[in-house]
Amino acid sequence: MTVSPFDPAQLHAFETALAERRRELTVESQRLADTNARVQSSRTDGSADGAHDAEASSLRTEWSRLSGFQGEAVEELAAIDRALQRIVDGSYGLCVRGGERIPEGRLEIKPAADLCIMCAEKAASRRR
Ligand SMILES: [Zn+2]
Repeated sequence: MTVSPFDPAQLHAFETALAERRRELTVESQRLADTNARVQSSRTDGSADGAHDAEASSLRTEWSRLSGFQGEAVEELAAIDRALQRIVDGSYGLCVRGGERIPEGRLEIKPAADLCIMCAEKAASRRR
């Protein structure tokens, strides 16, 4: 069994940071969902006149921007949940791909990180 490289106090600090970030994201994504709903409803009652078209197009831009944010928030929330699960099962702080230790500094910036820097860079270059 892999053992987390962190002691209980450190794990607790990371858990607190994750829970805090999770709360922020939940609030933010709820706010975005509300905005999305408003934009959606103003899209459907649009008429064909020119002024309305311009407004509709700026709303469309706004909407796709918000949808992007929303997707990222959902992804980050899932990553946070996986990180919290790894705290529970004792593998937090280890790369999920190679099992290497994830540097503490990286986790402080991004507590939901589940890859070491090397694996994260490999994953990122594959995505491009
Ligand atoms: Zn790795």
